[in-house]
Amino acid sequence: MLNPDSATGHETNREGGWRLVIHGGAGTMSRDRITPEQDREIRVALGRALDAGSAILSKGGSALDAVTESVKVLEDDPNFNAGRGSVLTYDGEIELDASIMDGRTRSAGAVAGVSTTKNPVLLARRVMEASPHVFLGRKGADRFAMEQGLEQVDPSYFETPERRRQWQEFRARKVGYFDVDMKYGTVGAVALDKEGHVAAATSTGGLTGKRWGRIGDSPVIGAGTYADDRACAISATGAGEYFIRLGVAHEICARARLKGESLQKAADMVIAELTEIGGIGGVIATGPQGEMIWSFNAPGMYRGRIGSSQPKQVAIFGDE
Ligand code: ASP
Repeated sequence: MLNPDSATGHETNREGGWRLVIHGGAGTMSRDRITPEQDREIRVALGRALDAGSAILSKGGSALDAVTESVKVLEDDPNFNAGRGSVLTYDGEIELDASIMDGRTRSAGAVAGVSTTKNPVLLARRVMEASPHVFLGRKGADRFAMEQGLEQVDPSYFETPERRRQWQEFRARKVGYFDVDMKYGTVGAVALDKEGHVAAATSTGGLTGKRWGRIGDSPVIGAGTYADDRACAISATGAGEYFIRLGVAHEICARARLKGESLQKAADMVIAELTEIGGIGGVIATGPQGEMIWSFNAPGMYRGRIGSSQPKQVAIFGDE
């Protein structure tokens, strides 16, 4: 069902405070598919990512630093499909995508298909801040990371036994191009700082069984990530091909900016359109008015939020 009320979050009335919303992927999370132990671990991990970002924002730090730090924490956590714990490609390898955008200047940086850079979000940020480009790919991106002195790891660092098991299951079935059901946990963060600036970041291993150099929406500015101080900051998760076709993140910002829609309405309308063309997933958003919302059409989305005057909240299932 599209956007049951329980799957959306409202929080407005900004008074010069800060906001942080994070996600750890949307998908077929249901209580019978997640063990109590996994449930607990995920909630603790989401809480840690909120703590890392809010420590920065509460001291007057920037939205850009907060989203970088929150996403880095989730990349380092093997429970999520980003950095360590990423899904495997058809060939049993790991190819990481990430992007970041600064709403103050609308500067952006993105990388696709990196395989040795420990934290792709840090690399995306370097692309934005230390290169003349927006989007770098594959070996060249890793080479730029090395030149920038970013930590490099052996590709085996990213792999976990559970992801290898999922890959074996996928290969044994020999059907489909990839499996959207076997990939929980793209991660993302959006923030609003005390100065009123917004930023967004997203990081992923993509889809289990992806091949031919497939790239999803997560590193595509305007699809998986967008930030504009005039409207909002968005990070998306879901079947990337559909998010790219709709330019989901930019579309939500454009609706909010040009039509004056609330972020909740803009996000719900675009997710409704996504549903119409067969896409599944969700978004998180914050904006200059202090909204901190999510909208998704999947059964669940790992998510959390906190504000200067709102308590920390984490959730997994659509009905909480
Ligand atoms: N959006 C990601 C991709 O298509 C996957 C996800 O968010 O789960 O690569």
